[in-house]
Amino acid sequence: MRITGLRAVYPSYRHVAPSWRTHFWQIVVRLETTGGVTGFGYGGGGVAAVEVVNRHFNELLVGRTLDSAHDIACIWDDLYAASLPYGRRGLAVMALSGVDLALWDALGKAESKPVCRLLADMGETGAPRKQRIRAYATGADPGWYAELGFTGSKFSHRWTGNERDYEAAVAEAERVRSALGPGALVMIDTYMSWTPDVTRRMASVLRDHDIYWFEDVCTPDELEEQAALRPFVKPTLIAGGEHEFTHHGFREIARAGALDLWQPDITWCGGITAGLRILDLARRVGVPVAPHRGGEVWGLHLIAASDCMDLAEVLPGMRDGARDELWLGEPVPEDGYLTPLDEPGFGVRPNEALL
Ligand SMILES: [Mg+2]
Repeated sequence: MRITGLRAVYPSYRHVAPSWRTHFWQIVVRLETTGGVTGFGYGGGGVAAVEVVNRHFNELLVGRTLDSAHDIACIWDDLYAASLPYGRRGLAVMALSGVDLALWDALGKAESKPVCRLLADMGETGAPRKQRIRAYATGADPGWYAELGFTGSKFSHRWTGNERDYEAAVAEAERVRSALGPGALVMIDTYMSWTPDVTRRMASVLRDHDIYWFEDVCTPDELEEQAALRPFVKPTLIAGGEHEFTHHGFREIARAGALDLWQPDITWCGGITAGLRILDLARRVGVPVAPHRGGEVWGLHLIAASDCMDLAEVLPGMRDGARDELWLGEPVPEDGYLTPLDEPGFGVRPNEALL
């Protein structure tokens, strides 16, 4: 088939928070093809990425052939090269991610296969298909997550420069542990707010709390600093990577030995195509991969078909909290596990009311 149209939209989110990063600034990409197959993708980068897709990628894509994963890889390389002067990282690759995912969705629909089966059939992802995937809940309502059946939870902690932040971290770790029980996974996401010194002291005060990983303790530019922390915080893992892009970026992480666990965001790092290349690299250097927001279909299909860790991040929010349902048909965790649905492509469609 041939690509006949490409268009990105920034959704009209209704439940907005007072932050420019509301909804992670996610965009929807719609790809039209001959034969009537429509592919949908999810990217980052907000209105700026919408412009990249509609004013640059669009003219490079219309008329191209889309019949195989090889076609998608060639398109990826061409769009990466074309946007290289202003891209390589950040919003250009976030825009490329949305296009890549729309291509995979369209290919899956054309072949009447879910993306995870397309990937498994390619035989290049390192493992057979997982039937179901353990989910963990990120957020601040551990009691509810335990009721929902989750056996892992990650809470957010920001270092504000106050000594009491150490006690707050310990208190929250205890609250999550008592809600989920002794066997559960408990993780902390610091969103780049812990310095190396803070991380070292946190590792001591949390020593007896069996924290599985510390996430994003430093900025993505502080690779040596994170590498130095790894032996110090053991057995807790230093995790990160949601703010890194493509296999080129992860090669720098690998070279520095910066992280025990990689967390590429499939809607930001360059889509499934970049995800496959990152996984290939991770396999060679022996680092486990657990995609950021991996419980959303875009990461979930890659986890299901590959040797990614059997662990998918879900953001359930708070009990009774209002939220936008942008994607319809998404699998819902049951007893703490997710199963990718057997629908062609990624199996979801956008809620047109929000577009
Ligand atoms: Mg994070």
